[in-house]
Amino acid sequence: MVSSKVVDMSNDTKPTRETAEDAVRTLLRYIGEDPKREGLIDTPARVIRAYDEFFKGYNQDPAKELGKTFEDIEGFDDIVLVKDIEFTSHCEHHMVPINGFAHVAYWPDQAVVGISKLARIVDIFSGRLVSQENMTNGIANCIQDTLKPKGIAVYIDADHQCMSIRGVKKRASSTVTTTFRGLLKEDHSAQMRFLEMIKS
Ligand SMILES: [Zn+2]
Repeated sequence: MVSSKVVDMSNDTKPTRETAEDAVRTLLRYIGEDPKREGLIDTPARVIRAYDEFFKGYNQDPAKELGKTFEDIEGFDDIVLVKDIEFTSHCEHHMVPINGFAHVAYWPDQAVVGISKLARIVDIFSGRLVSQENMTNGIANCIQDTLKPKGIAVYIDADHQCMSIRGVKKRASSTVTTTFRGLLKEDHSAQMRFLEMIKS
């Protein structure tokens, strides 16, 4: 018999790796598999190792990435955009992949960050269970709280496998979410310029 241990959700302690692997065995039995057959013996351990990789964002702090700023911007007063940041995340409703691109822009006020840090925070949010709306807002909030720039724009275009391989099965559909803050919300021409920049 496979262990019937269940995770006690009444406390916040993280279940052990062994408990997590047992949960995978339970799912295998649920779909009609025999977790003891040869091809599946190491599967629970592999699944949990894959989870460690998919969900490593829970151990990472996006705000910390934007902690090191450079103040010497020599009068630079325009949009900084990092576009086509490819990511894979997982939807919080079905735990299946979301594949897409994020375009992240800010209009610096006093300080700039290393541009790779904008891609880094997309990676950190991707390493968690998300809704695309929350991911879009989360990235903008993180930039707002740390850099306090004049403006922010976040644009995410993604394919949700929970829509393309199950449910309504719309393979060609993609979901676009945006959020605009400060100058990039209020100044229509700046916002239009951002939208042109990500399409060029
Ligand atoms: Zn979903």
